[in-house]
This record gives sequence, structure tokens and C-alpha cells, in this order.
Amino acid sequence: MDERLREAPCGFLTIDQNGYILEVNNTLLEWMGYKQENLIGKHFELLLTTGNKLVFHSYFYPNINLYGHVEELFINCKNQMGESVPYLMNARRFELDGIEIIDCVLVQMKRRIGYELELRSTKKQMEEAYLEKNLAFEKLEQIYLEIEKKQIELMEINSGLVEISNTDKLTGIPNRRFFQEKLEEQIELYYKEQNTFSLLIIDIDHFKKVNDTYGHQIGDIVLVKLANILKKQARPDDVAARFGGEEFVIILPNTDEDAAIFIAQKLNQEVERAEWTETGSLTVSVGVATFIEQDSEALIISKADQALYASKENGRNRATHYRELK
Ligand code: GH3
Ligand code: MG
Ligand code: MG
Repeated sequence: MDERLREAPCGFLTIDQNGYILEVNNTLLEWMGYKQENLIGKHFELLLTTGNKLVFHSYFYPNINLYGHVEELFINCKNQMGESVPYLMNARRFELDGIEIIDCVLVQMKRRIGYELELRSTKKQMEEAYLEKNLAFEKLEQIYLEIEKKQIELMEINSGLVEISNTDKLTGIPNRRFFQEKLEEQIELYYKEQNTFSLLIIDIDHFKKVNDTYGHQIGDIVLVKLANILKKQARPDDVAARFGGEEFVIILPNTDEDAAIFIAQKLNQEVERAEWTETGSLTVSVGVATFIEQDSEALIISKADQALYASKENGRNRATHYRELK
């Protein structure tokens, strides 16, 4: 055998037509742990596992006889230790000096199978990881949805709480807290944009008498009714609120002294004209103030209050602007 074929990077072996080994190269001997004398003259089936002997008879010989060659036959050979080693085999019938022989080339599949197994297990791990990732992602998405839902609920609760904290329990209109906030905003707006605004303080005339004569409950009904009149009279930007007890306030944005007095007097008329079925008749006194440069939150309230006092002093059921006091 040629030197290079002896050491070729593949197993090489020649058998005769009956399957007896004629030649074997060193590479195959080394792979299988045999020596020349162990194999030469021996039948090739000596190297095969039982199952593979069957493959040989049913596939190898018929193909060699029919086509003269066999390609990529996967077989398991026993090495000297009796271990089964997978090989890929190509074989070709060859005529040498009028005698038919079969040359076989064998390539070890051990590594390839190892790689395949590794590849398959990596693929499986990847698929599992992918599945896990998807499940985790779905779970995360659910958690996000849950958080979003809770946030909306919380916002609703919060806005409900804000609403409650800004509303007067008895009359349902904004309370003093809300009024104070809006007054601050209005003052800021005044300094930013020179928006003239006015304030009304409305106080029920002789309300104590209503309570004393008809009872506190009727007094409450009167307060609710008056709140509704104020709400109805207020323009969309006006802020009508209960200041406390039987006193109410209205912030009138973009309203100067004259307009404010006009609105206040109209309010006197509306209250007087309203149907007070429980008490017969009812009037209010109004104090009016219009914000000027030197004013503050407390100062404009105090001015409106002084004007209200003047309305009471001058016979009630009337409106007085602070400017009339000087
Ligand atoms: P004036 O014309 O000077 O304003 O006289 P008035 O009787 O209205 O004023 P006064 O301050 O003497 O009495 C206010 C009354 O309002 C006394 C108080 O019991 C009553 N009051 C305050 N808050 C409520 C309430 O929520 N419900 C009822 N029913 N009465 C209230
Ligand atoms: Mg009062
Ligand atoms: Mg009163």
C-alpha cells in the first residue's frame, strides 16, 4: 500500500468479493486498536456489531453487486476493546489483475455525533429558554396591566378624595379651602396678566331668626337652596363657595367694580324673588371688593367683609362696594 494511503486521514480497507480483509491502513488500525495480523485474512464482519452484520447483508452487498459502489453507509464497528464506534463508509468495487476487490473508506463519526448531540441539546435549551422568556414576558405584561389598573383606581380614589376635600358637605358646592386656593390663583393671574377681578361676600339676613323660628333643619334647607341659587347665577368661570355658617363667597374673574356691583345687586333681587316656601321670605346682604395692586388675599376678604357690614348697617338686602366706604 502506498505510504500516504497508509497514513491517510481516513480509514482504508480492501476486502475481496467474499468479504475477507486484504489490506488495511494504519489509520484504521490505530482507530480500532488492532494490528495488521489481527485483521488481514479475517472476514470484515468480524468488525461489525450484530445489527450491522444484517445491514451489510441487506444493503452493502446488494448495492456493490448491483451498482459497484456504496455511499455514505452508516455503520457501527467494534474496536479491539469491543466498543461500538460509528463510521461513515464509502465503498467501490475495483478490478485488480482480473480479480474483483472492494475498496472501503471509513470516516469516524464519533465527533460528528458528539457535535450533533451538542447542537441538538443547545437547540433544545434555546427553545426552552425562548419559551421561558415568552412566559416571563407574558407574566410581566400581566403585572404591568395590573399596575396600570391599580394606578387608574388610585387616581380615581385620589380625585374622589380631592373632590371630597374641596366640597362643602351640606350644600355640595365648593368649600372655603377650595375658595382660598382659587383666590390665590386669581391673585397670581392678576400679577401676571393684570386681570381685574372682584369678590362678593354674601350673608343671609337674620338667619338666626330662621333657625329660631323654624328649626335648624329648615335653616339647613335654606342654606342648600341659597347655594343652588348662587350656583345658578355664577358664570362658568366664577367660583361660588360656602365661606362658613350662613356666609358665601363668589370670585368674579375679569370683573371690575361696576360690573361686580351690578352682579351683586342682581343677586339680591334673585334671592328676594326666589320662592322660600319654608320661611316665607329671605334676603341677603352683599359686600363687594375689587382687587387692586396693594391688596392681598386677607386684605380683599377684609374689604369685602367691611362692605358687607355696611350693607347690614344700611338696612340689609343690599350690596355695597368697598369704594363707597371712604
Ligand atoms: P345678620 O342679618 O346680622 O347676618 O343676622 P344673622 O342672624 O344672620 O347673623 P348671626 O351671625 O347672628 O347668626 C348666624 C346664624 O347662622 C347662627 C348660626 O346658628 C347659624 N348657622 C351657622 N351655620 C349653620 C348651619 O350649618 N345650619 C344652620 N341651620 N344654621 C347655621
Ligand atoms: Mg354671618
Ligand atoms: Mg347673617
